[in-house]
Amino acid sequence: MPAKDEKQPITPEMLEMMKAMKSIFVDEEDEARKKEERELRAKERDAKARQNAIDRETEQQRMAAKKAIQESCLHQREDNTYNLHGQRGCDGQVRFMCPLCLAQFVPGHPQYNDLIRRVSSERLGNARQV
Ligand SMILES: [Zn+2]
Repeated sequence: MPAKDEKQPITPEMLEMMKAMKSIFVDEEDEARKKEERELRAKERDAKARQNAIDRETEQQRMAAKKAIQESCLHQREDNTYNLHGQRGCDGQVRFMCPLCLAQFVPGHPQYNDLIRRVSSERLGNARQV
């Protein structure tokens, strides 16, 4: 029988050689590149999360500023008449909007009935004056 068919125990030298061969097949540059890409993706995720947090904050600030403007707005022109533009919706209800602060008054709004009464009496008053 030829010697090559004989089974031999793995010697420490053979183990070293196997490790050396494995390191030839594992592309270390490729591994480093993959690691870099993973880190870059993680950084991008973090940046996106931070940006989302900022966006939420600015949106809240914008909404708060809009609310403050609408609350301080009298929805009136310089001559103190109401500057509300009404639009009749498909349900037959009139909705009002202030072009200055963009506040909308829909039926059910706490000020709606009061405003519709004031705007109508104002318009009736103006009509009588003409
Ligand atoms: Zn207004």
